[in-house]
Amino acid sequence: MKSSNIESIKSSHCWKIIVVDDKEQVHAVTRLALQNFQYKHKSLELISAYSSSEGQQLLEQNPDTAVLLLDIVMEREDAGLDLVKYTREKLHNRFIRIILRTGQPWIAPEQSIIEEYDINGYILKTELTQHKLFCFLLTAIRNYHNLLTVEEARQHISAQNQELENSNLILEKKVQEYTQILQKQTLALVENNKKLELEVQAKLHAQQNLEIINEKLFEANKKLSLLANQDALTGLANRRYFDVYLQQVWESAQENKHPLSILICDIDFFKGYNDSYGHPEGDHCLQRVSQIIHRVAGKSEGFAARFGGEEFAIVLPNTNLIDSQTIADMLRSEIHNARLPHRASTVSEYVTVSIGVTSIQFQSDGSINDLILRADQALYEAKKLGRNQFVTLH
Ligand code: GH3
Ligand code: MG
Ligand code: MG
Repeated sequence: MKSSNIESIKSSHCWKIIVVDDKEQVHAVTRLALQNFQYKHKSLELISAYSSSEGQQLLEQNPDTAVLLLDIVMEREDAGLDLVKYTREKLHNRFIRIILRTGQPWIAPEQSIIEEYDINGYILKTELTQHKLFCFLLTAIRNYHNLLTVEEARQHISAQNQELENSNLILEKKVQEYTQILQKQTLALVENNKKLELEVQAKLHAQQNLEIINEKLFEANKKLSLLANQDALTGLANRRYFDVYLQQVWESAQENKHPLSILICDIDFFKGYNDSYGHPEGDHCLQRVSQIIHRVAGKSEGFAARFGGEEFAIVLPNTNLIDSQTIADMLRSEIHNARLPHRASTVSEYVTVSIGVTSIQFQSDGSINDLILRADQALYEAKKLGRNQFVTLH
């Protein structure tokens, strides 16, 4: 039954009762007995049928009937029971309350029928007093009313359940949609991450390449600057670097008030050497002499350079005049003792050098140029005095 029907039944002003009996007298008595009946401020509307087929019709037309007062024996012995079955099974009316009435006590319905077809009462017509009928009907209508109330509640709950189910379905759909979106977004993120990782790796690779290139450049630069500062033939520092170095040492000595000495060393009769042995042999001689100069300078923490041609210079930082004289003599004797044959020399049968020595204490003013000039003058003196010796000027 629809809830709107239940509402209209509850709000109607009377309870519908269908009375089915083939005897007019029973209808009249019933009407009389129930004329003042009221339940929940509602009176009765009695509808009469005189056969089970007429009853069927009325039941169909009045699905909102509260109670069926039904005679068992009419046109047939079980006409009433057929109508009961019709009501419950064909019309599927499970709300209407059914009270059976019979004048033949031996045709009492079986207990199973009472149970199966939900029959509310069974009365013998002989016992049917007004009071008894009243009670039966009251109970039946109350029952009917309760059934409607329960049904109403059941429908309400089921509507709520339906609503819940619907909103659950909507929620489930939304969760599915969001899950799909999240999955897509996650995939996109993973892809993006992969791309980024590749980019980072490429950048790292490029950086590593750059670092390698930088290292190579650094090495090449080192070699270049070494070459720029180095004399190609002897491997000693060249004149350019000698000037730079001397400037530094000069400044440091001045600042710290340290002594500073230089030696200028020149191979004796080297023009003659070249003439006598040839230029390549002359180059070789320059290399041999350079090695000795380098070694001797190294011993005294001095710095050796090719000053030009067959001339060499040794800078001796923090070395006073006496010590520099010792070094100059050591250098002269080591070169001589190397016994490099020199047939063009008039002072020895071996290669010899002349050395000019000078030193500065920074007690007086002076310049780098003065220092070199004095060493040069000392060298000149050494040549003049017979070569293979050193001369000091200060
Ligand atoms: P002194 O004893 O007075 O120093 O006489 P010297 O002959 O050594 O001096 P001079 O300045 O007259 O000659 C120097 C020679 O050194 C001339 C030049 O050909 C030679 N020379 C300069 N540089 C090189 C070089 O790189 N290789 C060779 N083989 N000879 C060089
Ligand atoms: Mg010379
Ligand atoms: Mg010379």
